[in-house]
Amino acid sequence: MVEDMIIETNSPEETKELGRKIGQEAKPGDVYALLGDLGVGKTIFTKGVAEGLGITEPINSPTFTIVQEYEEGRMPFYHFDVYRIGDVEEMDEIGFDDYVYGEGMCLIEWANLIEEILPDHVKTITIEKDLEKGFDYRRITIE
Ligand code: ADP
Ligand code: MG
Repeated sequence: MVEDMIIETNSPEETKELGRKIGQEAKPGDVYALLGDLGVGKTIFTKGVAEGLGITEPINSPTFTIVQEYEEGRMPFYHFDVYRIGDVEEMDEIGFDDYVYGEGMCLIEWANLIEEILPDHVKTITIEKDLEKGFDYRRITIE
């Protein structure tokens, strides 16, 4: 088994920079599950990913649409936020499989809520706070 990678950041900029690297190294068909409580930095991380893919338009959280598509970068970028999902069947309705087995990069905020339908090739990124290490400290685990 491949070891988990742990990165510690101490500012939003550092977290965004890590996202940028992931975006730069992304390959078509990559699927990332992004986990962590409200306010840990998932959206900031995602903005970095988008920059790394060469997307310049602003990234808005797709909370009310489940998925937001960006075609401007070096591959399509599909940004999901499934926080408000009621039932995993809603994912079928939007054609989830076409995205995760497609030629773009998928990033899914709150992917734990749709765990049972995630593809085998999903990579997981978990962002956590540790208030003992400071308000801006984040531990980011990549599996
Ligand atoms: P989420 O999408 O997980 O709800 P956001 O990305 O919207 O979170 O917000 C994260 C908040 O945490 C921002 O206000 C950001 O400035 C702050 N923050 C402080 N330190 C960090 C850090 N190291 N990494 C990411 N965000 C941080
Ligand atoms: Mg968010």
